[in-house]
Amino acid sequence: MKKKNFIYRIIEREISRKKIKNICTRFPPDPNGQLHIGHVKSIYLNFNIAKHYNGSFNLRIDDTNPSEENEKYTKEIINDIRWLGLKWNGKINYSSEYFEKFYEYAVYLIKKNLAYVDELSKSSIRDYRGTLKTPGKNSPYRNRSISENLKIFENMKNGMFKEGKACLRAKIDMSSPNINMRDPVFYRIKYKKHFRCNYKWCIYPTYDFSHCIADAIEGVTHSICTLEFQNNRPLYNWILKSIDLPKKPKQYEFSRLNISYMITSKRKINQLIKKNILFGWDDPRIPTISGLRRRGYTANSILKFCSKLGISKQESIVESELLESCIRSDLNKSAPRVMVVLDPIKLIIENMYHKEEMLVFNNHPNIKSIGKRNVPFSKFIYIDRNDFLEKYEEDRKVLSIGEKVRLRNSYVIQANSIKKDRHGNILEIYCTYDPKSLKKDFKNKEKLRAVIHWVSVIHGINIKVNLYDKLFTVKHPFNYKEIESIINPLSLIVKKGIAEPSLANSKPGEIFQFEREGYFCADLKEHNSKNLIFNRIVELKRYKFNKKRKK
Ligand code: ATP
Ligand code: MG
Repeated sequence: MKKKNFIYRIIEREISRKKIKNICTRFPPDPNGQLHIGHVKSIYLNFNIAKHYNGSFNLRIDDTNPSEENEKYTKEIINDIRWLGLKWNGKINYSSEYFEKFYEYAVYLIKKNLAYVDELSKSSIRDYRGTLKTPGKNSPYRNRSISENLKIFENMKNGMFKEGKACLRAKIDMSSPNINMRDPVFYRIKYKKHFRCNYKWCIYPTYDFSHCIADAIEGVTHSICTLEFQNNRPLYNWILKSIDLPKKPKQYEFSRLNISYMITSKRKINQLIKKNILFGWDDPRIPTISGLRRRGYTANSILKFCSKLGISKQESIVESELLESCIRSDLNKSAPRVMVVLDPIKLIIENMYHKEEMLVFNNHPNIKSIGKRNVPFSKFIYIDRNDFLEKYEEDRKVLSIGEKVRLRNSYVIQANSIKKDRHGNILEIYCTYDPKSLKKDFKNKEKLRAVIHWVSVIHGINIKVNLYDKLFTVKHPFNYKEIESIINPLSLIVKKGIAEPSLANSKPGEIFQFEREGYFCADLKEHNSKNLIFNRIVELKRYKFNKKRKK
């Protein structure tokens, strides 16, 4: 994250004016879904500010809205943040721990004549609220006496009202130009089980009422959120001023993360899961943390991506290529190389008179510590159909009849003839090899067309690969309401491939570079020794370039 963004500048100013000492930030996820990469931007920002100023960074599960799924999501959120390696300060906080306090402050506001119980229906409250152009109207319940309000609010708490029949509202100004200030709702009735409090409460505070108080209780100094809360800031300050808490956190807003071809909204992700368009929150096509992890993204690459993002109030869209380049550069340094043929065509080396031989390859071209492995070579090998052209073409760096290529890490071969079926499809390629061409110091006298990957037919093992592409057909899916209509039908292509035998021992979560194809991760859930399943994390850059040239 580019340092010294506007929030850092504000803090520097506050420090120089001795207005502030102990910086405290927080991340307050609502456990109504899993975290996505937009949340990581926020976590990373809050974490780093606290770290930079020797302050503290709190994790607060914002569980003010009970639902059955809360507990599951809470566990997943905590697990995801742990996986990212961004440590919060002390224990995990829960907004529900402050329910008593919230209630006391609500009573305090009633006593100050700054809140009242309204019995208008939800739709009437909406009608009375007015619009951006017209002022709102006072509710007929607005002028109840303080004692009456205290009593009815207590009745609300004691379950004497049905859901929707009463709510607590602030008494501010129904004609305020800021609609958020037109007597916002602070408490509503919900007869739902809360995963931490069970049925203890049947009234629950709204985000607006609870958030600023929770911030103040925790001693948060900088409450950083996304721009859509800008108009809630006057209310945030009004509440804190009205209840006279010793600590006064301040809210700062920055623009949310939008990435081209992706959605970073829990609501929209949920919509696609419910319609079975996505397999779940960890579908590798979406940028949830669990989806990215299952796809094969490392925590390191995600944080690197966040470090490159600007923090500002300007709405902007980050290119998805930036995320891809972060994972590529991370894996380039660590992923062992292996060979897998995704579209096999058989090649026969006619002048090889022994059946097979064992070659030893480095697992990484530059890093010795990544080790070596055995790769069997034989008279019958598979190469990729894309790496062969019957007739020579100047700008295609592939094998063709009469031409020579090097088989990756092994011999130089020349194609001599082919066998076709009656439809004209190539079945087999007949070649000769130069048995002396294996040595590293072998100097090619002639120019070779390419270096291509291969797998021995008799030793090759079957694998399944999930080839992922962009989930959406449009660059800015976040501007669409009907996102189901812009799903890329080719966002997942499942293919069979033939891999060198070393992959038989791969474990879920292990990452490899399939030479010339891309980086792949053994699927965390479904990969096992009987079913070898790999997810394509990202293509190699060079391969993309070659594909373009083919057109
Ligand atoms: P969504 O819009 O996906 O439902 P949310 O804002 O409702 O997300 P919360 O759990 O309430 O999700 O968010 C926790 C924090 O993460 C908030 O401070 C919010 O501002 C921040 N956040 C959410 N989405 C993004 C994003 N795309 N970019 C940056 N920060 C985000
Ligand atoms: Mg939210």
